[in-house]
Amino acid sequence: MPYKKKYIKFHLRVFWSVAAFFVLLTVSFIAFQYYRERQYKIEQLNNILSGKNEQIYYKVKESGGTNLSFTELPYRVTIMNLEGDVLYDSEAGVGNILENHSDRKEVWEAIQQTGGYDVRRKSQTTGEIYFYSAQRHGEYIIRTALPYDNDLIVTLKADLHFIPIAILILLLAGVLFYTVMKRLGESIDRLKRFVSKAYKEEIIESPTDFPNNELGDISRHIAQIYNKLIRAKKDLEIEQLQVAAQKEEKDLIKRQLTQNIAHELKTPVSSIQGYLETIIEDENMTREVLDDFIEKSYVQSTRLSSLLQDISYLTRIDEAPELIKREPVDIAKLIREVISDVSFQLNANNIKIVNKSGDMPLPCYGSLSLLYSIFRNLFDNTIAYAGNNIEAEIELYKEDMGRYFFSYSDTGIGIPQEHLPRIFERFYRVDKGRSRKAGGTGLGLSVVKHAVQFHRGDISAQQRPGGGIIFLFSIAKDS
Ligand code: ADP
Repeated sequence: MPYKKKYIKFHLRVFWSVAAFFVLLTVSFIAFQYYRERQYKIEQLNNILSGKNEQIYYKVKESGGTNLSFTELPYRVTIMNLEGDVLYDSEAGVGNILENHSDRKEVWEAIQQTGGYDVRRKSQTTGEIYFYSAQRHGEYIIRTALPYDNDLIVTLKADLHFIPIAILILLLAGVLFYTVMKRLGESIDRLKRFVSKAYKEEIIESPTDFPNNELGDISRHIAQIYNKLIRAKKDLEIEQLQVAAQKEEKDLIKRQLTQNIAHELKTPVSSIQGYLETIIEDENMTREVLDDFIEKSYVQSTRLSSLLQDISYLTRIDEAPELIKREPVDIAKLIREVISDVSFQLNANNIKIVNKSGDMPLPCYGSLSLLYSIFRNLFDNTIAYAGNNIEAEIELYKEDMGRYFFSYSDTGIGIPQEHLPRIFERFYRVDKGRSRKAGGTGLGLSVVKHAVQFHRGDISAQQRPGGGIIFLFSIAKDS
């Protein structure tokens, strides 16, 4: 990565934020629970003192409000009328008249409602700190006050045993949450590693390495998309290399072809030149020799012409197939025409033809001249190379929606196995001398193969069981 900024990892940030939130929540919970516990204790104590106040009231009522003495009790007792005037106080000396107590919180609440308490207040009378509880009974307000000493502090102390439990739960939740966050962090780390690999354009071979969660799923999907992209890119590169290699090969073939063509042209041209020079120079040439030379020149010029014809076919298929005219052709009719065109040579060589392409039309949309050259070259080769007193057979052995499948075979001398893979190459000849003698250009089968491929078909050659050769080829019905 070109630029790296320092930062706290995402999972740690989430962890600490949520942890802080939970600590705050726990502290609030503890504070609230503490308050409630204490309140409960206070109310409990207030209830106990209320009970005492009731008992004191009955005693006051019994005595008719006179000769009150509660000094033997372990807490302070104050008795007031409903206006808050103190009628009796166990801590005040006898005859000591106390001020009106209606402004004391618990007394005021007892006057207004039925009772009240005050947790921790310094007495103006005794100077001591008390817990007060006062209730209204009949025409009296009875108040008891407990000194706020250590015993009372312990009694009112909130029960805090829930705190360790809350902290334990918090810690456990923290550990659990940290584990989850750590796994999230690991997932993110893996995604990061993947991204850095992606940055270096490496293939991620095992997207299964990702964790089993949503993040893992997302990572896996990204990895798959990424791998597809990389593979497509690599495929494209390979394709480009292949195209470049093909182009180079094509250029090489072209150069070789040009050399071969030049070489092939040279032979007939120099022969014709030789014959003509001799004719011009030798004034006394006999008519017989002259005729012979002219005929030989004619043969060479025919060879030259078929060579140029084949070269023209191949160049057109190679360079500008789109310019080759396509038209509806009946292949069955075409085969009959070819047979008729070569019938003289066939008869001369005593070659029997078996035509199994049927009488029905075999419609096709393609190039008439290329289709003609396919069948013509095959028959010409049989005539030129296969020998006499043999049989040649053309058969439509299969047909499907889009293609015709033909076999062409002869029972002649055949082609040795080692030559078969190369016979479709340009200028490849099995027997050079024989081929030249027969007027072959070495391009015949190459033209056949290209013409078949132009019609979106394939061609292969194999030895015919029992001798001879067999070609299997297909032709698309609509090229
Ligand atoms: P050419 O144009 O010179 O005839 P081809 O490319 O047509 O050359 O054929 C290549 C070689 O395959 C020929 O030189 C010939 O030796 C051999 N060949 C082709 N067809 C036959 C056949 N029917 N029987 C035997 N040999 C054949």
